[in-house]
Amino acid sequence: MIPTDLVGVEQEVSTGALPERDRIGELVSEAHRRYIGDQSGTVADYIPILGAADPALFAVAVVDVTGGVHEAGDALHSFSIQSISKMFVYALAIQEHGHERVRDIVGVNNTGLPFNSVMALELNDGHPMNPMVNAGAIATTALMPGATPAAKWERIVAGLSAFAGRDLALDEEVYRSESETNQRNEGLGSLLSSYGRLEGDSDAIVDIYTRQCALNVSAHDLAVMGATLADGGVNPVTGERVVSAEVCRDTLAVVAASGLYERSGEWLFEIGIPAKSGVSGGIVAVSPGKGAAGAFSPLLDSAGNSIRSQLAIGYLSRSLGLNMFASAPPAGAVTEGRS
Ligand code: GLN
Repeated sequence: MIPTDLVGVEQEVSTGALPERDRIGELVSEAHRRYIGDQSGTVADYIPILGAADPALFAVAVVDVTGGVHEAGDALHSFSIQSISKMFVYALAIQEHGHERVRDIVGVNNTGLPFNSVMALELNDGHPMNPMVNAGAIATTALMPGATPAAKWERIVAGLSAFAGRDLALDEEVYRSESETNQRNEGLGSLLSSYGRLEGDSDAIVDIYTRQCALNVSAHDLAVMGATLADGGVNPVTGERVVSAEVCRDTLAVVAASGLYERSGEWLFEIGIPAKSGVSGGIVAVSPGKGAAGAFSPLLDSAGNSIRSQLAIGYLSRSLGLNMFASAPPAGAVTEGRS
């Protein structure tokens, strides 16, 4: 039985420190240099406009919780945020409704199935289960406050912009391209409605979800957004509080379980930090109390995760000491057991 009654018990934190800033900068440059030549993978094209992405683009950025920024490659190049929006909208939903309500409505478990799976809904009586794949994300978007779709949309843009520390804008071309080919997400929305799991007009909710996926960001933005979740909810660049520390903890737990779709377990086993990917090629990885990495490269693996972004972040997790599960005995400790 997993305890769910710890609300009110003080949350102590257990996080360490990053290396000196110069060293972070060197490692970010090295992460970019090491993998720039890797041309494996394919660009997503099920959303037609994404197929036009330049496969040569590659960016790596790290923002630490003191606001230090370190970048290499095309760090300011804009791309649509896609699935990475799910984690930030989810954070806004928990901020609004609280831990228990969002847990009960949307769920927190990995479905173990691809991000656009219909079967995952059918197998669970229409319960979305996982807010980091499309069905759960559509259910999460429906929870945004606002009496009209326009009000919900404004709330999402304002919230994600606060995470990024600048005004994010919609990529109209991506939005249009996805809207024209969005039958599968519309199907997921209808299915959620048919199970009584979605309030409001499902097409209108799916439209807002499609817009949130078409917001433009850069690898730099992703690192700032992630660093806000690493910093107890305060954007370390602007100083603005965006969400509470509890919301960060809840969001990162779900991202750790499900951020790389059906590959999330492998990712956690190999790399050891919560990370969320999107089909345009971005990944954000968050190390609580330390900072976040944002990476971008449009060449994807078969699950829809950017290959070079995974490689670069994997290297940084190792070299910057981001893996949450790594520990070492204190210097000078007796290794054969302490009395
Ligand atoms: N907008 C995309 C979709 O709904 C997002 C998917 C993704 O990034 N994995 O299909």
